[in-house]
Amino acid sequence: MGAPRLEIDLDKIYHNARTLVERLVVRGISVTGVTKASLGCPAIATAMLRAGVLGLGDSRIENIEVMRDAQVAAPMTLIRSPMLSQVERVVKQADISFNTELDVISQLSSAAQKVKRIHGVVLMVELGDLREGIMPGCLESVVRETIRLPNIVLKGIGTNLACRCGVSPDANNMAELSALANSIDATFGPILSIVSGGNSANLEWVLSGAETGRINNLRLGESILLGCEPMHRQAIDGLYTDAITLIAEVIESKLKPSQPWGEVGQSAFGVMPSVTNRGNIFQAILAIGHQDIDPNGLQSPTGIEILGASSDHLIVESGRCLPVGTEISFQLNYSALMRAMTSPFVTKVKKSRGHHMHVSDSYDKP
Ligand SMILES: *Cc1c(COP(=O)(O)O)cnc(C)c1O
Repeated sequence: MGAPRLEIDLDKIYHNARTLVERLVVRGISVTGVTKASLGCPAIATAMLRAGVLGLGDSRIENIEVMRDAQVAAPMTLIRSPMLSQVERVVKQADISFNTELDVISQLSSAAQKVKRIHGVVLMVELGDLREGIMPGCLESVVRETIRLPNIVLKGIGTNLACRCGVSPDANNMAELSALANSIDATFGPILSIVSGGNSANLEWVLSGAETGRINNLRLGESILLGCEPMHRQAIDGLYTDAITLIAEVIESKLKPSQPWGEVGQSAFGVMPSVTNRGNIFQAILAIGHQDIDPNGLQSPTGIEILGASSDHLIVESGRCLPVGTEISFQLNYSALMRAMTSPFVTKVKKSRGHHMHVSDSYDKP
């Protein structure tokens, strides 16, 4: 089988999604399965749906279109504010979109009227992470304008933390979201059915048994695919952290000095860290690089240490000679996973119950 490749174990993804759905349902919280790190892979989406997620969320309309084309039957939410240039595609393919700009919602309304569809809107609220969101003090007026727009239904409110600045979801900011939901419902009548509290970073808060208030939905990607929570990158109890592994192949293996020689300036990807002279070492090169992965997001097997990377080469110290052709498997973090999924040079191999079900590279639809 060709390398580099991602081996995707659909049974482990199903298990992770199922476990999270079960732990959250008892707290009154539904799960939206987030597919963006898999480019909207229909097989992964289907595994999540079988596990009981309520619907699917993706940040790219292109990925939602891939899933629609593959007949994945589920409510689809665009979890990034639509571009004005894509509103027609959004109302056609997504049931709901996350929004923060009235100009966009107004154009979604026009586009939805043209195709005689109703489009759902979740308004995102800024609670401190300084990525997307309406400032809390402006929410009421945006709600007032939104509910006047034809063919638009306000479905709920939501927030997103931990992504840009690493602000933790906690009792305070979650209580603030609940209070905002209560206040909107008090002013406009009960209109909010979705109160979406956040992403995988919210799991620590919710699983600690905290009061969930009005929050009844989380959007989970990383925790389902990688089995860990993003705040401290700790494995979540009972989940697989190896549902997806990366395999790369050795193309050079030599005993080489541990230190470079000659005048040293910048390398292709910044400054080379200074290395101490440890004499000769076993250095191997794997045929994968920055174009395919985030080298800082790879975890190598014991005995193999990543020394550096350029566009197409990953350099490791192996402690022993690794013959050319040797395959090495790595664990990936979210950043490495996202890049590998997006690289056309990385084959994606999905397996289920020990069988290789489907091999596709990115020249096919995933
Ligand atoms: C990516 C994303 C998620 C999912 O985040 P994970 O950490 O992968 O669970 C949820 N909500 C929004 C708005 C996102 O952009």
